[in-house]
Amino acid sequence: MQRKSLISELFRSQNLHYGFNQSFFFSSEKTQIPSPLADPDDSLYADVPKPQRDKSERKPYPTPMKVLIERAKKEREVRKAQPCRVLEDPPGNGLLVPELVDVAHRVYRARESLLSGVAKLIRVVPVQRCRFCHEVHIGPVGHEIRTCTGPESGVRSATHVWRKGRVHDVVFFPKCFHLYDRVGKPRVTHDEWHSVKQIPAVVELCIQAGVDIEKYPTKRRTKPVYSSSFTGLL
Ligand SMILES: [Zn+2]
Repeated sequence: MQRKSLISELFRSQNLHYGFNQSFFFSSEKTQIPSPLADPDDSLYADVPKPQRDKSERKPYPTPMKVLIERAKKEREVRKAQPCRVLEDPPGNGLLVPELVDVAHRVYRARESLLSGVAKLIRVVPVQRCRFCHEVHIGPVGHEIRTCTGPESGVRSATHVWRKGRVHDVVFFPKCFHLYDRVGKPRVTHDEWHSVKQIPAVVELCIQAGVDIEKYPTKRRTKPVYSSSFTGLL
């Protein structure tokens, strides 16, 4: 028994030795393997993605910086030479574009008609809306396709949780801040976040183009405004 174990021990140590030599042999061969990085233009490696650009390298500007600086200088000089100029074209001068007033009224009426029509339809045709995401389904019961991306959807295996849908689930209008004086005070500052009303953007568009709505008053002008510069207005 002792002899047997001695022989097997010896055999194992020889194997280990051989294994070590083998790996050593292959490691010394490593430098012989051709690398795609060695010659990137080689047609053999045409499909291999090329190494990424250095992040410190900047993409060139479409318009050279020198040209931009010169252009800004010229504009500044023009502003100094002509500090007060009349803005001639509506809507920039505060007046309405006459031919667009009717278009604005039609768009506004179309929106109202759309909303009232959808309200009538959903009274009869049931609409389902997911409680956790924006998925909408038209029918008496919601679908069972697991595509919910709402909060804790992982817990529900991405199953939607359906509830009765409303008009605004079917027709969604993004909102924007309403401007009382779009030319005199076109900028809404951060501090006005809560004081300036947010209304559907399409309604604001119609108002600025000429629709008057009592609950969203806006300043209408009969004379064009004067501008003190390209950016500041009187
Ligand atoms: Zn959902």
